[in-house]
Amino acid sequence: STASAEIYTKVLQGRYELGRVLGRGASSKVYRARDVRTGVHVAVKAVRKPHHPCSPEDAAAARRSVERELAALRRVQGHPHVVRLLDVLASRTTVYLVLDLARGGSVQSALEERGRSDEPVARRLFAQLVSALAHAHARGVFHRDVKPENLLLDERADVKLTDFGLCAFADRQLGPDGLTGTACGSPAYVAPEILLKKRYDPGKADVWSCGVVLFSLTAGYLPFNDGNLMGMYRKICSGRFRCPKWFSMELRSLIVRMLDPEPNSRIKLGEIFDHPWLHYKDGIMPFPV
Ligand code: ADP
Ligand code: MG
Repeated sequence: STASAEIYTKVLQGRYELGRVLGRGASSKVYRARDVRTGVHVAVKAVRKPHHPCSPEDAAAARRSVERELAALRRVQGHPHVVRLLDVLASRTTVYLVLDLARGGSVQSALEERGRSDEPVARRLFAQLVSALAHAHARGVFHRDVKPENLLLDERADVKLTDFGLCAFADRQLGPDGLTGTACGSPAYVAPEILLKKRYDPGKADVWSCGVVLFSLTAGYLPFNDGNLMGMYRKICSGRFRCPKWFSMELRSLIVRMLDPEPNSRIKLGEIFDHPWLHYKDGIMPFPV
């Protein structure tokens, strides 16, 4: 037992006691929970299956999306920076994904509470994100919704990539050209080629989103922002942004390579580890700017 005053109101199929809500999305709710048998604290992501007033097409699409999230999670298990799937339960209305509890919350909430990170802290988080994504890509899973809300932190502040609900599988969603036309993602993090309604390479789009994440982590604000969505989209497509004056030269250089609006000249995920910013030894860089 723990000293926490957590109140559990509902027991899920006799297996998990559900506590407070940790987060929610369009069709999901994530609860803090406790395994009744072992007492271990976990997170339970409840994804509602579609209910009545929607068309059979919507119902089929929603079912595919839950199935896709589960299939993707299973395919990318076994990496230190991907959230661990512990169990799956289902009721008539809902699928429950039982996940490792990320006690540090999301990178988004860390950003909101503590503001921007200094470069050594950001470098560590970013390297963990890139290694998780490289693992997913190698398994044929493209995330397509990389953003701070979908990056969790465990008790050691290690990153756990989560929320594969929008992912694309290399062997299912992509055409013979390796491209897809399905526009998805979150406005501030979405790549310009997706906004321009082109067929796009989801691996390259993931690199763009990672670039927006890296900028936001180290700047404390978004690279492309505007009072309205169309204004934001215009800025994203222009590919123009300004780095804050405190960015190191190496960080600037990496971000410019990731936020390249032309997907074919954008740095590739696998090349990021060779970029000098990831090898920057703080304090002993020979040519400070
Ligand atoms: P959605 O698909 O609805 O966006 P997510 O899987 O992204 O759902 O989860 C929504 C939010 O819930 C996350 O942004 C995070 O704040 C919280 N959350 C999700 N999974 C966990 C977890 N395993 N541990 C702690 N918090 C989590
Ligand atoms: Mg999410």
